[in-house]
Amino acid sequence: MSLISDNLQAVRADLIAAALAADRDPQQINLLAVSKTFGAEAVVEAARAGQRCFGENYLQEALDKMQQVQTLLPELALEWHFIGPIQSNKTRQIAENFSWVHSVDRAKIATRLSEQRPASLTPLNICLQVNISGESTKSGVLPEQALSLAKMIATLPGLRLRGLMAVPESSDDVLLQRHAFSQLRQLKEQIQAGGIALDTLSMGMSSDMGAAIAEGSTMVRIGSAIFGKRDYAK
Ligand SMILES: *Cc1c(COP(=O)(O)O)cnc(C)c1O
Repeated sequence: MSLISDNLQAVRADLIAAALAADRDPQQINLLAVSKTFGAEAVVEAARAGQRCFGENYLQEALDKMQQVQTLLPELALEWHFIGPIQSNKTRQIAENFSWVHSVDRAKIATRLSEQRPASLTPLNICLQVNISGESTKSGVLPEQALSLAKMIATLPGLRLRGLMAVPESSDDVLLQRHAFSQLRQLKEQIQAGGIALDTLSMGMSSDMGAAIAEGSTMVRIGSAIFGKRDYAK
């Protein structure tokens, strides 16, 4: 077996264990494999091991990789999620090539994605990225502005608002990890109470997956635990 398929199996086992420990159905938690900085071969290996959903942060890298993967594995339909920062001049290619975008944090980007989503495709699934710890350097809408942005996005015909995403300040302390994820879960509940239907909490990475699942994550975004350590210099 390849290393990637071993890793995937281990991550799936951890996901199931964390779900059961939290009295949750593991089927309610989707695994997004974050393949940024890794090549098409790594995606193909993961796909051969049964993985279907992949997350990417950098548009050009992602588009090149998608094309290579399509050539290597034409029989498999993979689902691609954009999870990186979005520049407004890149929205068209994102709208045309992805099934999900997790990193929407302003109205202008949402409007462009909706207008540019091809009519031949189903609406683009959207998560609002929330700056849950309120750090000024972080991307994401502030929690107090999330409801009004969610209401605006819910009116856009090319988009389907699914939920919230966050990348909390990293910490080794499980209680701090859980606190941040709990805030995102409560914000989702507030937005739902405001009349907006949401079914997704995109939270949890390699170092805090267990805490995210304990707090209700429905989609964990796992990179290094599947593909290994990233080398940004490459
Ligand atoms: C890179 C990245 C991940 C994956 O991180 P790991 O720690 O490697 O699991 C998840 N989410 C986002 C937004 C990322 O940029």
